[in-house]
Amino acid sequence: MSAVPLRNDRPAGNGPRAVTVLGATGSIGDSTMDLLRLAPERYRVEALTAHSNVAALAKLAREFNARFAAIADPARLDELRDALGGSGIACGAGDSAIIEAAARPADWLMAAVSGAAGLKPALAAVDRGATIALANKECLVCAGDLFMQRAVDAGACILPADSEHNALFQALGSGNRAELTRVIITASGGPFRTWTAADIEQATLEQALKHPNWSMGQKITIDSASMMNKGLEVIEAAYLFALDPDQIDVLVHPQSIVHGLVEFADRSVVAQLGAPDMRIPIAHCLGWPERIVGPSVRLDLAKIGQLTFETPDFERFPGLRLAFEALRTGQGATTVFNAANEVAVAAFIARQIRFGAIARLVEATLEHWIAGGHLAPLTSADDAIAVDHDARRLAASLLPQIAAKAF
Ligand code: NDP
Ligand code: MG
Repeated sequence: MSAVPLRNDRPAGNGPRAVTVLGATGSIGDSTMDLLRLAPERYRVEALTAHSNVAALAKLAREFNARFAAIADPARLDELRDALGGSGIACGAGDSAIIEAAARPADWLMAAVSGAAGLKPALAAVDRGATIALANKECLVCAGDLFMQRAVDAGACILPADSEHNALFQALGSGNRAELTRVIITASGGPFRTWTAADIEQATLEQALKHPNWSMGQKITIDSASMMNKGLEVIEAAYLFALDPDQIDVLVHPQSIVHGLVEFADRSVVAQLGAPDMRIPIAHCLGWPERIVGPSVRLDLAKIGQLTFETPDFERFPGLRLAFEALRTGQGATTVFNAANEVAVAAFIARQIRFGAIARLVEATLEHWIAGGHLAPLTSADDAIAVDHDARRLAASLLPQIAAKAF
């Protein structure tokens, strides 16, 4: 039994759908609001959320006449109230308000908070059996087994919104799960694809933020440069589709046109292609089980000319190796992997560590965690969050020595 539907096996609904967007002011939120804007008669916005960007949240809430707006930063409630003054839109602040937004009745919810902070709100939607477009991969990496089991128990429907996983979701429709032998997720290789290890070590924040193909939030852009993002996606795929690590391959594909491929027992390989525009996988989730008209450019393969593929380099991009190791270790190791990476990326953004130190901090945190005998199965969301917090503290304590090490 899977919470990710195998085929278009649910009837399409009639009338406007109530939708909620968690992380409405971010990059995925922006693409989602863009799609809602295209067909206002089809959607009614129930709730929108943000972390601290009150102005953007209030603007969206007014534009879409949302019923509820929530800001995670508890100090900004008055500011949000003022910004929504006279609109009649209810509002709240703090983590509990984000959870309230997720729990309110909506037919479809986009989970696009960044980082493990998205776990509890996404679970609130899972528990009411919602249809959830899941972009927030960290919540699966942090607590994948638990998340997917709760989705099955509550009858929630998880639609993968991450482009590679959405591609796999679409390709899986042409066979049965029992016939699947392997999935392949592609990676652009990021801005450092052709760089030497020594140059990658010294890469600056500005260089890491220049993604060749995709326009995304800051955290995921840095994760793409380190290929930690692909590591997170390998783990995400394992939990979403109940796959063994050996069934997941990564293929570097600099053009970002083929997003994911599924190999079946007869050796047929089915792929999904599209321009590198997140509105394509989001539109697939928004329309599902139907197809809606999308605003993205048509794919012009003749113009692109060549699609090329390379084997990923686990030496220059150790984050990818660490992700597979964490997945094989299981039992909370992926939670630690994610937490340590969030700490490392924040430290890199704060210019406290070199780019190369991101993977070293993740590796050191995992080693200390395992050596300390802390590995244990996660039994609840609170358990996963406690592991996340403990791993962050451990990573923060290891940070000075990792930062000081010369390479
Ligand atoms: P952004 O940083 O652009 O946006 C994050 C959103 O979440 C913003 O609305 C932000 O609010 C809100 N937010 C941040 N922290 C918190 C918090 N602690 N509590 C509540 N809300 C919070 O991220 P992206 O849109 O790029 O990514 C969102 C998720 O989607 C990530 O998990 C990412 O890995 C995944 N994803 C993104 C892709 C992309 O193309 N961008 C592709 C595939 C997956 P505020 O604006 O106020 O800070
Ligand atoms: Mg992706």
